[in-house]
Amino acid sequence: MSGVRVSGIGVHSGAAVTVRLHRSEGPLAFRLGATIVAADVDRVVATPRCTVLGDGGATVAMVEHLLAALAVAGFWSGVVIEVDGPELPILDGSAAPWREAVAELGAPPPPPEALHVAHDVRFEHEGTTIALRKGAPSLDVAVAFDAPIGSQAWSGTPERYGELLDARTFAFRHELEALWARGLALGAAPGRGIVFTAHGPEVPLRSADEPVRHKALDAVGDFVLLGRPLAAAVRIDRGSHAAHVTFMRHLRTLPFMSADERSSSSVSRSRA
Ligand SMILES: [Zn+2]
Repeated sequence: MSGVRVSGIGVHSGAAVTVRLHRSEGPLAFRLGATIVAADVDRVVATPRCTVLGDGGATVAMVEHLLAALAVAGFWSGVVIEVDGPELPILDGSAAPWREAVAELGAPPPPPEALHVAHDVRFEHEGTTIALRKGAPSLDVAVAFDAPIGSQAWSGTPERYGELLDARTFAFRHELEALWARGLALGAAPGRGIVFTAHGPEVPLRSADEPVRHKALDAVGDFVLLGRPLAAAVRIDRGSHAAHVTFMRHLRTLPFMSADERSSSSVSRSRA
């Protein structure tokens, strides 16, 4: 079968999974057997420490790292992702292996027009705050975890989102042990992300701020589910997949500015 092939273990299920990336006309989508599931926030069915898409009973989890790598490479459409298991493989816990796979797809199609919010937005959801300011796109992410991670922040413009792809997912050892006791995180193992104890990380970090970089990577990936880049300064405090998804659904209920409204109201009236 054709396509760019990536295989690995699903961190939640422990299942061996093979993914094939295919160039295709149309929006980003996942092919799960006979079911096509659009990479769209309306298709999110759960957010258990990752983002799960589904349609008609077919689901695929852990889509956010691949979606981030696709967006960083400029792919907002033109790729179908065929998956033969319940979730995308965790690989090394980062999106760096996805970046390599996506690079084999060649040049992306032209990007869609960005979404311009008509006014600033502030949103709160279960301890997360997300704020949008009109203006040039940027991302500003802050986290506050127990020691030894503590408080960290990262900010950058889209040209720098590629720097986030190397940052690995992480968990505290006591959280993992609780998940294992419930039959979850069965694929969590050395080499698949970072485990922290009270004394520090169990493997060397790629950067001192790797945890917040990973949270920013998760946000870049989740926000692909809007279908278009967001032309706004985004600030996320203590983000989560659940908050990102709830926020995107809220955004879709708000007025957005069209290209005409942005250039000149008289121009849009004359065209009407
Ligand atoms: Zn992640």
